[in-house]
Amino acid sequence: MYLRELNQSITMLRGAGPAMSEKLARLGIYSVSDLLLHYPRDYDDRSVFIGLDASLAGGRANTVVEVLSHDWFGFGRMRTLRIMVRDSLGGTEAALLCFNRPFLEQALPVGCRAVVTGKFQFRRGELQSSAFETERLVEGQATPQGVLPLYPATEGLQVGHIRKLVREALREFGSRVEDELPPFLIGRRGLLHKREALQGIHHPEAAGELLAARESLIYEELFYFQLAVARRSLIRKRNTVRRNPSRGALRNRLLERLPFALTADQKTAAAEIVADMALPHPMGRLLQGDVGSGKTLVAFLACLEAIEAGGQAALMAPTELLARQHAQTAARLLEPLGIRLAFLSGNVEDAARPPLLAALKAGDVDLVLGTHALFQDEVEYRSLRLAVVDEQHRFGVLQRLALGRKGPLPDLLMMTATPIPRTLALTVFGDLSVSTIRTMPPGRKPIETHLARTGNERKVYDYVRRLLEAGRQAYFVYPLIGASERSPAATGAELKNAEAMFEKLAKEIYPDFRVGIIHSRLKEDEKRATMDSFARGEIDLLVATSVVEVGVDVPNAAAMVVEHAERFGLAALHQLRGRVGRGLEQSYCFLVYAEALTEDGKARLKAMLATTDGFLLAEEDLRIRGPGELTGTIQSGSLRLTIADPARDLAILEKAREDAFAIVEKDPGLLAEEHRNIREVLARANPFGDAPVGKG
Ligand code: ADP
Ligand code: MG
Repeated sequence: MYLRELNQSITMLRGAGPAMSEKLARLGIYSVSDLLLHYPRDYDDRSVFIGLDASLAGGRANTVVEVLSHDWFGFGRMRTLRIMVRDSLGGTEAALLCFNRPFLEQALPVGCRAVVTGKFQFRRGELQSSAFETERLVEGQATPQGVLPLYPATEGLQVGHIRKLVREALREFGSRVEDELPPFLIGRRGLLHKREALQGIHHPEAAGELLAARESLIYEELFYFQLAVARRSLIRKRNTVRRNPSRGALRNRLLERLPFALTADQKTAAAEIVADMALPHPMGRLLQGDVGSGKTLVAFLACLEAIEAGGQAALMAPTELLARQHAQTAARLLEPLGIRLAFLSGNVEDAARPPLLAALKAGDVDLVLGTHALFQDEVEYRSLRLAVVDEQHRFGVLQRLALGRKGPLPDLLMMTATPIPRTLALTVFGDLSVSTIRTMPPGRKPIETHLARTGNERKVYDYVRRLLEAGRQAYFVYPLIGASERSPAATGAELKNAEAMFEKLAKEIYPDFRVGIIHSRLKEDEKRATMDSFARGEIDLLVATSVVEVGVDVPNAAAMVVEHAERFGLAALHQLRGRVGRGLEQSYCFLVYAEALTEDGKARLKAMLATTDGFLLAEEDLRIRGPGELTGTIQSGSLRLTIADPARDLAILEKAREDAFAIVEKDPGLLAEEHRNIREVLARANPFGDAPVGKG
């Protein structure tokens, strides 16, 4: 039996009465397999005892105490239990401060003996700890020894109960648990059998056994994960289409018309893409490059390749604004080559849609640009050969998959300015290859970044005035659209908003310049008209919200002023700054911040000042925010990893990946006898909701 098949109710176990199972239900534990999959969150090494005194030297105490008394301090919701204990090793007394753990009053009654582990300090004349773990010892019970598991517990359910129950489950069912990995892999990678690994993770005899158990379980999880990735990749490859590589005539004509040469990285990326597109199976490629590195052009070259080879191309952007801008760039660069363009978004009028859709279906359009409307069901292509997705981090993994299912699989090119750490690229986009543009087009001067405190913004305004007088343009960005809008975090402090500042900038500060405003509440055609005027230089200064964050490209813009910069995330600030510095002249970014900065806010502004490198900023962002958000990306891809962490377990991930891909390549249907248990596990659990290979 496989672990996940142990769906016997936990009430079958000795010691799991109705009260107990109700508490376990709160942890999501109903069956024996749930219980065995409830891995310890940590361990206590009780092979060595350290008394409360001795722990002051700088370690964790690990000892048996007697509970002397209870008392409470603080008032109302802050009322906190304080338990006095005496160390059985040496007799030292100490206080356990039970913040948010009132239930310890019941769990550790006066007079009982308990194991206590944790960090103790000398404070206010007593030895105390608020970060401790305890476990009551029942009368006559020997002191627990060895490496003990600590489980995520819940109120009224002590770690000791869970331990006992797990032990019971292992005794009763452990020997029936079968391996989910084929024997040859277990041998090759030196892994434990599943039942040994379960035993080892829950009740390690020693630290070494724990390590081996963890590694085995992590490998298994990552193996099945990578197997899903490998099969998805195989489905793509199975869908072979006849490929006619082009001679590159269209691409050459575009390159001849450009006023500049491609950068070396752009050339490499384009060559990698074109080579992929000539392979007999659909491409899956991620093009990453910092803001302003020139990804759009590379995408256009890919589109030309698709078109010259007789197909159609689609380019999707995350916002209407950006999609329009791409459409305009395409009109400027590609229409002269005879490319037939179309634009499609949710805002295209009803009357205009049927002919547009008909033209796509008939193949009368070569390149269609737009928003996600491009991949709605009603949109049919005659021969979609390439789908480009710009700023793909804005789209879920699921959308990517949906996209891949459209018609006979097209080549897929995804572009992102948010560098994806290699580990994550492997995990989430496991079946994609990556091209990277590292260098900026030549002649760009690094953007100068300045911080100014609210109150000193006059200096900034004066500086911007000089740039405007020199014929350059500027953005002013605000966190809110209008006065009616309250940001949830805006408590009391007045936040500047785009509408009010538009009035002020236009009338008081720059009455002699042309000022425009753009934000998400305006109608699409208003937004478009304003953006067009700004791009043509008919507006000098554009007041905006973060709608201009992504992709907007007006090379004459020389100043980006962000007011209340402390309100923006690091990625947003980097994107905003990336709107300037797109021409040859010096550009500036002014970050105006209000007082009362949070620590994180301060760290973000410092990082912005320190570097313009998007890769470094992304790392810094990860450090400030913690990896939560990136992990979120993984979770949303319907991948549930319980013990493995792809970023931490990279070495194991790479082995699992190698093995999974080799197996799928050799035996796509998993029909060989040596792959029997893989086949069975997939059939029973199908944890990744994958379609069976062959149907793609
Ligand atoms: P991103 O990678 O952020 O999408 P864009 O494609 O918007 O960058 O390009 C930014 C700007 O750089 C555009 O104005 C584009 O015309 C220009 N550009 C692109 N490639 C080159 C190049 N090789 N030399 C000079 N300018 C370039
Ligand atoms: Mg772009």
